[in-house]
Amino acid sequence: MRIFLTNHSFLFDIEQTALMLLPSAEPRAEIGPVDEAVPASGEDYGASSIEVTPQCVAASFFLRLGGKCAEKVCRYEFSGENEEKRQSEIRHLARRAAFLAITELTGENPAWGVLSGVRPAKLARALLEEMPAEEAEKALTGRFFVKPEKAKLAVDLAKIAMEAEYDTGPKDAAVYVGVPFCPTRCAYCSFIGPMAAGPNSVKLSAYLTDLRREIAATGEALAAGGANVRALYVGGGTPTVFSAEQLALLLEAVKTNMPLAPACEITVEAGRPDTITAEKVSALVQYGVNRVSVNPQSFSDEVLQAAGRRHTAEEAIEAFALVRKVGPNLAVNMDFIAGLPKDTPEGFVKSIETAVSLRPENITVHTLAIKKGAQLAESRQQEARETLSAMLSAGQAILQREGYRPYYLYRQKYMGGSFENVGYERGGTPCLYNIYMMEEVLPVVACGAGAATKLVSKSRRFERIIHPKYAEDYSQKLEEILAKKADLTAFFQSRPCNAP
Ligand code: SF4
Repeated sequence: MRIFLTNHSFLFDIEQTALMLLPSAEPRAEIGPVDEAVPASGEDYGASSIEVTPQCVAASFFLRLGGKCAEKVCRYEFSGENEEKRQSEIRHLARRAAFLAITELTGENPAWGVLSGVRPAKLARALLEEMPAEEAEKALTGRFFVKPEKAKLAVDLAKIAMEAEYDTGPKDAAVYVGVPFCPTRCAYCSFIGPMAAGPNSVKLSAYLTDLRREIAATGEALAAGGANVRALYVGGGTPTVFSAEQLALLLEAVKTNMPLAPACEITVEAGRPDTITAEKVSALVQYGVNRVSVNPQSFSDEVLQAAGRRHTAEEAIEAFALVRKVGPNLAVNMDFIAGLPKDTPEGFVKSIETAVSLRPENITVHTLAIKKGAQLAESRQQEARETLSAMLSAGQAILQREGYRPYYLYRQKYMGGSFENVGYERGGTPCLYNIYMMEEVLPVVACGAGAATKLVSKSRRFERIIHPKYAEDYSQKLEEILAKKADLTAFFQSRPCNAP
């Protein structure tokens, strides 16, 4: 469906709003007046326009969809805003008009309203800087059409992010170490990395050599800039495709070179239960890892099989028990996905009930997001919004009953039904890395293929350094990547010291 924009160029905003509400129409925004041939042809289309005067702005959106039409006009009177704020209001008004016209014809009532971004709590934080929590919730529901329970969630999580930020200093950093290998590929995953044929795979050990070099150079650059690493996350892929010896080598490089804060949080994703052994857990403990993620995704064997996982529910429980036995002080996260093929609301509830009975410190509930490139992308439609909603609400009720509280959330572009991924914790054990990274509280410095460094500052502006996606390209570009590490030193040197 074509959408024509007049008097403005908010292509991305209008297209994302339409895409969120009308994905099957494949909306494409273009700048310029309505092509006269389109109304005459009877095809669906949208038209967004803006009129700005020194005193006010009016945004309108016309939609023709399936032979029906709707038009909405939204107005805003300026009251002394600076230019940046004016532009933000104008953009918001254009999206608001589009949202109202489209929802009138589709009957859609998305939980996150007009918000299409990845970080709803970021907007809530901006609001909290200007108004009390109650008003921020009202602004989210009134101006952005967010449902009250989601507005409360966003504000609660914004408060948690603000507390985390308050506890950090200008020299603090988070580090991400990427291992883009997995034992096999899950059916819902668009992961582009190689499959590790086994822990001794040549590719894997060559990658480890490169990664250790990069960790050493990064650690040196951070130390030279006076940086203080508060949280380090080894993710993937599946880092535990490495053997115990290889994991020890990786972590030894971290411990020797990174300027880790005394109580640095170190997390390793042991995602696939079929990769976890006592020797590997022991290596993690020996090198000071204090958190791991063991990801069952579901406790139904039928669902696991349909998802292309190579383990059973029982094996996931055994892997968890092994982690508890060998590393009793490790905080454990478990990931689950709502909306997997062959799952049902009852089955999902059973999975969450089983999870809470195991008492992991964290449980993260994802909504299935089928991206291009995943095996399921061709064969399957997203689960109905109502089914997903029932799964998520039931899961949330169980988690809250059992003392788990949400501590971070994010949304994805392809997420089913415009829902979200939510991390829950119990007993004050949130994974700080997730908050630092997702809420852009700290600069995130990345090592490894497919990883991205994001140097955020207090003014919320940031610079990105993106590494090559594939291990082979990463290896070829390694010297170039290492040469760029001086930028990290300069960035941290330019920042004031942490308060004593
Ligand atoms: S373990 Fe994770 S990264 Fe690896 S294939 Fe499965 S979903 Fe993708």
